Order: sequence, then structure tokens, then C-alpha cells
Amino acid sequence: MADGIAIADSVAALRGHVAAWRALGLSVALVPTMGALHAGHAALVRLAAARADRVIVSVFVNPTQFAPNEDFSRYPRTFDADCARAAEAGAHVVFAPAVEEIYPPGFSTTVSLEGPAAAGLEDRFRPTHFAGVATVCAKLFIAAGADIAVFGEKDWQQLQVVTRMAADLGLPLAIVPGETIREDDGLALSSRNRYLSDTERAAAPALAAALRACAAAIRAGRPVDAAVEEARQAVTQAGFVLDYLEARHPATLAPVADGSGPIRLLVAARLGATRLIDNIPV
Ligand code: AMP
Repeated sequence: MADGIAIADSVAALRGHVAAWRALGLSVALVPTMGALHAGHAALVRLAAARADRVIVSVFVNPTQFAPNEDFSRYPRTFDADCARAAEAGAHVVFAPAVEEIYPPGFSTTVSLEGPAAAGLEDRFRPTHFAGVATVCAKLFIAAGADIAVFGEKDWQQLQVVTRMAADLGLPLAIVPGETIREDDGLALSSRNRYLSDTERAAAPALAAALRACAAAIRAGRPVDAAVEEARQAVTQAGFVLDYLEARHPATLAPVADGSGPIRLLVAARLGATRLIDNIPV
């Protein structure tokens, strides 16, 4: 126990909690995270607690979803604060396994993905990322045996990948989306925002502002290609190096031909050494 919340560091311990809850007829939700919890994660935990009797928050910085050049070793680790935040938001157990518990010696199995995982968005810049995400999520789902798992819309492509995987593999749980929580100036909360310098932080809201302007333009009848190009220029002019800014079908993430159907705008861009992503509906 820490801060009034139980901590399970093994799958066996986690299953013990879940078995006790199941014996009482209680429903169970899982909120997968990499820790460094902020108000966006807390909102997911509150949503989970509203939908299920018991809530597990997993805190696991998953090495297989980081490329060698990414920030695995310096990813923020704030475990005690995470436990307090999870408890305050209504979680009952924090599942915090060691890397070897998830990836024992000889581990050789990876979920292979197509469809939304190969849409040419995050996967173009992080080619091994979603295989790592999907594999660890499958393991977490099986370990927890939860009825629902809650994921943030902030990572829209991840949400579609995990939703597709759960449907395709017939995993016996529902994937529940939680809305993106933002700062007052529109910047989506992210564990990586703490890397921004003061100057970068001041420029960062331009990313969400460009998406909002793009969505408004498309709704007003501007051709999608023109509106997207203007948004790309706005992001670049704000000082970002753009990885992508695209208009896509919300579920398949296929490119959209025009503004007649549902559209999700997705962006990834770098401010100095920090890479930010965001997305909104049109
Ligand atoms: P991570 O930040 O990678 O640990 O993400 C854990 C979960 O929190 C994922 O489902 C994310 O989509 C979600 N998440 C991250 N940031 C936000 C946010 N600003 N609002 C809502 N959910 C978020």
C-alpha cells in the first residue's frame, strides 16, 4: 500500500485482486499508462470509476514502444506521485510490473498490425512503436481480465489501433475513449510538455490553434487540401518542425477525398527536442 492504494508488482498479485472483486460480482476497468500522471490521466481514471466498480491503473514504461533514439531512459518516472494521483481519482490498484515481469527471458512474440497502424501517420516516424504498444496492451488486457480499458483520444491513432486489435482478436473487453484534456490555452496535456523551454511552451498552443482553424475552415466549406495546407504553414510559422498534419477518416485513418464524410485532423510536430501530437474532429 502507498497513499491508500494497493500496488501489485506481479501478474499473480494483480489477478488475486481481480479474483476477489469477481467473487463479489464487481466489474473491473483498466487504465493503461506509462506513469508521470497528469490531469488527463486522472480524467481517464474518473471515467473508468464511473463505468466500473473497481479500477486498475497500470504504470509501465514499456521499452518496446520506444525506438533506440527516443526518450525511454529519460522518460519521467514519478511513481509515488502517480499512486497518490491514481488513488485520488478513484483507482483501487496500481499495477506496476518490472520489465522482466512483462518480458521474461526468451520473450519472442509480437502482435502484427495493419490497417490504422499502417496509416502513414505516427507509424511513418515511429515504425516499431505500435507493435510495442499493441503487444503490451494485449498482455495488460490478459493480465487484468478487465471488462473495459480506457484510452485517451489524445493518442488517436493508438486508440484506433487498440480498438481494432481488440475487435480482430476477439478480446473480451470494451475499449472506452476519454476526451483530450487541455491547458487553458488549448495545449493538450502530455507528460512530455515538461521538456518544453519557456519560449517553446509559449509557442506550443499554436498546434491546437492550427487544428481548430483548419476544422472551422473545412466546416465553412473550404476544400480539405487547401485548409490542411494552410494549417501546415501556420504550424511551421509558429516555429515547429512538422512531421505530419493530415485529414483522415476517424476510424480507418484512410485519407479523405473531400469534406463530405467524418474527418479527424491529426498532427505531429517538433518544438526543439520535444515532439508533440494532437488531433481534433472536424
Ligand atoms: P501515456 O501518457 O502515454 O502514459 O498515456 C496513457 C493514457 O493517457 C493514454 O490512453 C493516453 O491517450 C492518455 N492521455 C495522455 N494525455 C492525455 C490527455 N491530455 N487527455 C486525455 N488522455 C490523455
